[in-house]
Amino acid sequence: MSPIWHPFTQHGLNEPIPLIERAGGALLYGEDGRQIIDAISSWWVTTHGHCHPPIMQAIAEQAGKLDQLIFAGFTHRPAEDVAAGLRAIMPDCLTRVFFSDSGSTSVEVALKMALGFWAHQGESRSRIVVMEHSYHGDTIGAMSVGERGVFNQPYDPLLFDVTSIPFPAADPQPTLDALEAACRDGAAALIVEPLVLGAGGMKFYAPAVLAEMSAICARHGTLFIADEVMTGWGRTGTLLACAQADIAPDILCLSKGLTGGAIPLAVTMASEPVYAAHLSTDRAKMFFHSSSYTANPIACAAANANLAIWRDEPVLERVKRLETRLSERVDALAGKRAIRNARVHGGIAAFELGEGDGYLSGDVPAMMRHCLDRGVLLRPLGSTIYAMPPYCITEEQLDAVFDAIATI
Ligand code: PMP
Repeated sequence: MSPIWHPFTQHGLNEPIPLIERAGGALLYGEDGRQIIDAISSWWVTTHGHCHPPIMQAIAEQAGKLDQLIFAGFTHRPAEDVAAGLRAIMPDCLTRVFFSDSGSTSVEVALKMALGFWAHQGESRSRIVVMEHSYHGDTIGAMSVGERGVFNQPYDPLLFDVTSIPFPAADPQPTLDALEAACRDGAAALIVEPLVLGAGGMKFYAPAVLAEMSAICARHGTLFIADEVMTGWGRTGTLLACAQADIAPDILCLSKGLTGGAIPLAVTMASEPVYAAHLSTDRAKMFFHSSSYTANPIACAAANANLAIWRDEPVLERVKRLETRLSERVDALAGKRAIRNARVHGGIAAFELGEGDGYLSGDVPAMMRHCLDRGVLLRPLGSTIYAMPPYCITEEQLDAVFDAIATI
């Protein structure tokens, strides 16, 4: 029996845990010889496909040169190139790039930057505004700004207080009113997943609402933090979801697709005022955050290969085509199965099956087993079934994914 304790896994249910040996494109290859279509991009990270050759080559070349370097007081070319590459394609106002190594840490960094911004100006603004159903990671700070529920209930005594605004459903006015009130009360920052709430159930909301939320924050000086850890790198049809609302955040969290999903890396980008608030001859005002692997050179090399792909290849056209193909299949499925609330945005398709809502509703292990038996990796969020495949998934592979779903 393996001693491994897997994430988000109830080992007491004895679910099978396939052993994967290699991968390519949208396919995982098991040690037992079977093929599995990765319909969720291995937790939303893989954008161009697994083991994408230019990214693998960049990793191999960098591994022969510089493996790891303390990033406090030192720098290296791969990190400098990532920072310059991001500056070239991310909103102009995001002038500073802070490296870390996961989506959760990019969120922790964003929250610490926001509080530092106010503290160093002598203002006691520390209240964070969050959106109902949000997910920002599983560290204590990231959980604090996420939806409270079964997944973090035991840790509740450690989570800090936030102000939660309603998810903007059919009528977004209550959301906007609640945000306005929180900002008027001196909120330090709002953190949101732009346009799509991922782990909260692939819930979509309109760009106009996002734009209005950004405008409300700007009116009150509340910092606007966009957590594009999942939505970034084309998932919603544009490089950033924020682009569809024609807005730029004060602080931006990126990870997952930053390296094409090949290797862990994250950045938190900040506007000049956020950086300037920490800039001083006073060492007590420096930004006190680091992790051992901050800006790991091999991870940065992968990110540079990803940035080159975004510069040189029509990635968004691929996502557009995927969106069309997903829509066709969801429409066809709706003709066969009673699905609710079918929705497609960029490379994400989602709908509800059955009656219940919530993370533990629906027999997720049984649904996963059903799909795995048909060579498809899906991981429903309760009764919400979604597909978020790598952009290179083929027609036949997509058919197989939806055939598996149709027979759940
Ligand atoms: N923010 C969002 C929006 C996410 O979807 C996730 C991960 N699914 C995270 C943060 C946390 O990222 P990580 O798992 O890399 O810590």
